[in-house]
Amino acid sequence: MFRSMLEAFLNLFRPIRTHRYPAEEITLPTGYRGLIEYGKEACIFCDKCEKVCPPGAILFYQHEDGDKEYRYNPWLCIYCGECVRACPKPQEALWQSETKQHSAVKEEGVNEGWFVWEAACKESREEYARAKKAGKIQNKSEE
Ligand code: SF4
Ligand code: SF4
Repeated sequence: MFRSMLEAFLNLFRPIRTHRYPAEEITLPTGYRGLIEYGKEACIFCDKCEKVCPPGAILFYQHEDGDKEYRYNPWLCIYCGECVRACPKPQEALWQSETKQHSAVKEEGVNEGWFVWEAACKESREEYARAKKAGKIQNKSEE
């Protein structure tokens, strides 16, 4: 009891060990794996990143004309790097930023909206598959 009270008292004079992140910048540790970055221009939309992602943090929305829209949830991501390893265009279409830090600030449409997006992405792909099977959509290369 006395020891814990002494510790508590001494802590008043010790330096603060916690960081006021994100208000203050922090020094990133060696080997830090940053956020997943995506480059649409280089992407060939093979969906490999989506398939290998353990928590399902990457989803592609399929538009009616066949175009796909990349969606990434940084709050679901476990930063394993599997998507980058699976990507046939690493460092161009997909890479891990070594410098970007997480922000506690929520981005609109990412966190709360993710489950809505998850359902929308699945639905869009099913719709596209049905339309393609019915011959309503042609591959762009077939056009
Ligand atoms: S780093 Fe891992 S968890 Fe994050 S998006 Fe890539 S495969 Fe998914
Ligand atoms: S694995 Fe790479 S090329 Fe394939 S869809 Fe994902 S980002 Fe695009």
